[in-house]
Amino acid sequence: MSGTALYIVPTPIGNLADITFRALDVLKSVDIILAEDTRTSRVLLNHYNIERPLQSYHIFNEHQAVTRLIDRMKQGERFALISDAGTPGISDPGFLLVRETLKAGLGVDCLPGPTAFIPALIKSGFPTDRFVFEGFLPHKKGRQTALKQLAQEPRTIVLYESPHRLKKLIEELREHLGADRMISVSRELTKRFEETITGSVAEVQASFADREVKGEIVVVIHGQEN
Ligand code: SAM
Repeated sequence: MSGTALYIVPTPIGNLADITFRALDVLKSVDIILAEDTRTSRVLLNHYNIERPLQSYHIFNEHQAVTRLIDRMKQGERFALISDAGTPGISDPGFLLVRETLKAGLGVDCLPGPTAFIPALIKSGFPTDRFVFEGFLPHKKGRQTALKQLAQEPRTIVLYESPHRLKKLIEELREHLGADRMISVSRELTKRFEETITGSVAEVQASFADREVKGEIVVVIHGQEN
């Protein structure tokens, strides 16, 4: 572990058992754990009897926090960054701290572990040799342009979407990519009501038509075939 000032530590996306032995070792050994939401992370840390000090690090304070954190790393303190779920830096804060830590000549290590898009991609059954991860599409400005570009994309596409926007997104996919394009919607991965629905845009749309969409969602889109 020597030489590492910052550890990026993935945490479960729903099932508390999805954490590696190494992640637990790192979380038990660092000086401070930086967490997006300290109350959410406390549940996980209590479950595994991890008693290291927690400090909040999130999108609203990351810019002010980074310089101070790097000064502390320079003095020898070691930090772990976790997010509410999955891998920090993937549609979550992390990138800025990693970039600035590296720039300061300090060591960064990222443990492999849970992230929502990989199981969704694999469960889709769509090609995995090449894919693009788009995260959340812009809500307003740039959304239509992004959808137009995605319509031409030959690689498998992975998106994150909130439950209350899923039906709107599927309608937009119908408009831009056509009713026959294959998509796969994974909901509540690793949780009790996990489900994956795969079919044409029209079929998936029909399967969500009569119900309220709840939970966390990953949408996987088959690339455009010529
Ligand atoms: N850092 C996380 C990761 O590595 O996947 C992503 C964080 S992002 C703020 C939250 C989004 O991830 C959710 O809106 C959903 O799109 C996706 N997500 C997280 N957990 C999920 C789960 N259990 N099932 C399906 N999607 C999930």
